[in-house]
Amino acid sequence: MIELVPFRRYERWRCTHCGFCCEEYDVSLGYEDEKRLRRFGNVFRYGKIGVYLRKKNGRCIFRKDKCRIYRFRPIACRKYPFYFREEGGEDSKFEFMGRTVHVFVDPRCSGLGDGERIEEVISRILKQVR
Ligand code: SF4
Ligand code: SF4
Repeated sequence: MIELVPFRRYERWRCTHCGFCCEEYDVSLGYEDEKRLRRFGNVFRYGKIGVYLRKKNGRCIFRKDKCRIYRFRPIACRKYPFYFREEGGEDSKFEFMGRTVHVFVDPRCSGLGDGERIEEVISRILKQVR
């Protein structure tokens, strides 16, 4: 089980394209993801309770030196390494469009600590996925 930490432990984030998340996770797809990704052909794995991106040799089939479908990538990939919850503490509290969201991160992501201000990244992701 991943030990998530409140986002305020970090000030900045930028994806380094290290590929860790593209190996570590089975990317679960929603209906809109599936619709958008159909253009790439047979890229799905159908599990008992969901649809996932296929993997090859332990990594997502779209992973080369970078993500080959970055513009079309699934919502789960757009959110990572951020996790959005209803509950948390002061360190995870984030105000967004009049609502309080609690935001946590997977500390194993190598993009934490450098790059854009983390509040700006979180706002951008929330605008895209909510
Ligand atoms: S683990 Fe973090 S830095 Fe590496 S590819 Fe994934 S999101 Fe980017
Ligand atoms: S779609 Fe792209 S970002 Fe998502 S797991 Fe595959 S290679 Fe990584």
